[in-house]
Amino acid sequence: MTEKPEDPSVSLFREYIKVESVQPNPDYDGCVRFLSAQAEIMDLPYQVVECVAGKPIFVMTWVGTEPDLPSVLLNSHTDVVPVFPEHWTHPPFSAFKDKQGNIYGRGTQDMKCVGIQHMEAIRRLKNAGKRLKRTIHLSYVPDEEIGGHDGMQKFVHTQDFKKLNIGFGLDEGIAVPGDTIPVFYGERNVFWIRIMCPGSPGHGSRFLENNAAIKAQYMINKLLEYRAKEKARLESDPNLTLGDVTTVNLNIMSGGVQTNVVPDKFELTFDIRITPTTNIAEFEKMIRDWMAEAGEGLELTFIQKFVDQTLTPTNPDDPWFSALSAGINKHNLKTKNEIFPAGTDSRYLREVGIPAIGFSPMPNTPTLLHDHDEFLNENIFLKGIDVFTDIIQNLGNV
Ligand code: ZN
Repeated sequence: MTEKPEDPSVSLFREYIKVESVQPNPDYDGCVRFLSAQAEIMDLPYQVVECVAGKPIFVMTWVGTEPDLPSVLLNSHTDVVPVFPEHWTHPPFSAFKDKQGNIYGRGTQDMKCVGIQHMEAIRRLKNAGKRLKRTIHLSYVPDEEIGGHDGMQKFVHTQDFKKLNIGFGLDEGIAVPGDTIPVFYGERNVFWIRIMCPGSPGHGSRFLENNAAIKAQYMINKLLEYRAKEKARLESDPNLTLGDVTTVNLNIMSGGVQTNVVPDKFELTFDIRITPTTNIAEFEKMIRDWMAEAGEGLELTFIQKFVDQTLTPTNPDDPWFSALSAGINKHNLKTKNEIFPAGTDSRYLREVGIPAIGFSPMPNTPTLLHDHDEFLNENIFLKGIDVFTDIIQNLGNV
């Protein structure tokens, strides 16, 4: 019995997985070598931009027949999150494929799959002799997994980016176990805050006034009560997803010197993700009001604060969204428009006024991004190329 030879797109995907572009020291040179080799094979011009040395942004371009029209950006990130190899069934950078066609590796879902699907869709259109009206840019950006600060966040403010003249962008979505693929048109606002609660130090045997712990207790209670309210809201309405509510997590508590000393301060660090229909200014004021109620001298530091709340239009008469939908519908895929619960590079595009949608066609796949044994089945991967081919053709002809 002879086995069917592997589809070249799958082989290319597996080759990309083997490039160890893993945080905190991603092999970005390896990515650029891999990507530039493909651009040359496809005969597409490319450029490498570094907003920060050693953090390459790779852009390859398929010029349209009307290159003055705003272009389409197909974005993916090259880096992947760290691994705990001892928890993996197959080595995480081996791109091992089992008998069912499941390809194991860090980045198979998040998001080297999409990077290759974009490329293969363009290759297919080009080989079929198609020309699109609009120019298509494929960008492969660094550091998304650590916030994109030296990647997309800086890139969108450069002349190199402005020259691309982007009218619409596609970026990442997420794998889902069911058959309804989420289409992400917005993201929650990240507030990473540290609240310093000062107090008068003294002997641990007394009831000291102006007590750091009492102030910390007040803040913890207020913020975790808010958390409980939002959790109840999510659980009471089956139509809501995580992106529709605000999450609050107290993730670091620090302070204190020794057991019998009342300390001069406690610090509380919260990870808050605010659903974009919230009034951000009022939300911040609410926290500051609680701080004032807690007592004297509390200080708020933002470790991260993202306040842009732009949502990409999803109405049927929006030309970009209807082109995207028509491509998806051709394949009879079920979708649901959602707010992305965490952060992606799409937010930086939306922030500079570019409509962007997060879409990774991976139905019937366990959600394993950032998890052990991340895998993607080759048939789902290949089907995704079919879907992107139609989507990109439609977007390029808007
Ligand atoms: Zn990702």
